[in-house]
Amino acid sequence: MRILVVEDEQDLREAICEGLEMDGYAVDCIDDGFQAYEMISVEEYDLVILDLNLPGMDGMEVLEKVRPSFPDLKILILSARSSVSDKVKGLDGGADDYLAKPFHFEELEARIRTLLRKKYSAPLSIIDLCGIRLDLSKRTASVQGAILPLTRKEFGILEYFMLNPEAVISQENLIEHVWNADVNSFSGAVRVHISSLRKKLRAVLGDDPIETRIGEGYIFHCPPESDLDDIKNNDLTGKQDSGR
Ligand code: CA
Repeated sequence: MRILVVEDEQDLREAICEGLEMDGYAVDCIDDGFQAYEMISVEEYDLVILDLNLPGMDGMEVLEKVRPSFPDLKILILSARSSVSDKVKGLDGGADDYLAKPFHFEELEARIRTLLRKKYSAPLSIIDLCGIRLDLSKRTASVQGAILPLTRKEFGILEYFMLNPEAVISQENLIEHVWNADVNSFSGAVRVHISSLRKKLRAVLGDDPIETRIGEGYIFHCPPESDLDDIKNNDLTGKQDSGR
């Protein structure tokens, strides 16, 4: 998931960005309203955290300008303007959520998860698919109770696949949603991460849920039922089951 943080207070911006990067999001961080408008127009974000008092262009103006062109973009206003009328104005202006400063980082994280779940219509913070369990709040993947050790990028790719099962996903989609703008992304990087993710999935599932569509990209889908039964019969949990 890719997030744009627009905040002109340097310490706060750095703290938010570092925290979200630790959570595994691809994060771009800027301090200017006009730049925010430009970035949102050309990049593909899943969510924007938008301060209101900004140099360049006020956050409300950014919101008004981008909302008509990007109806699906989740926008969370994070502002020191904390009166009820400010919140009403922000939400009526098209923001999906409004968090007043000061705030607890855990609350910001929870609100981000909620907005991203809505975007991809996943009702819970846990996705169970093809024998893989993805915990979006703990940022962990597991199979039959055993944690699958994934890098942040691999987790990001798997998360995007599992939120969009059966959909054709191009390398561009993955670069847009899993990488940030700093990375000089090229398709080779995507292939390297996908290849190592596949190796790990195949080791625990016995099958590869990621199909390559030549010239199009990838599709994540579950192996046939019989294969799922095989997964259940495999002793993947190891030590955890030894007491039975
Ligand atoms: Ca500000």
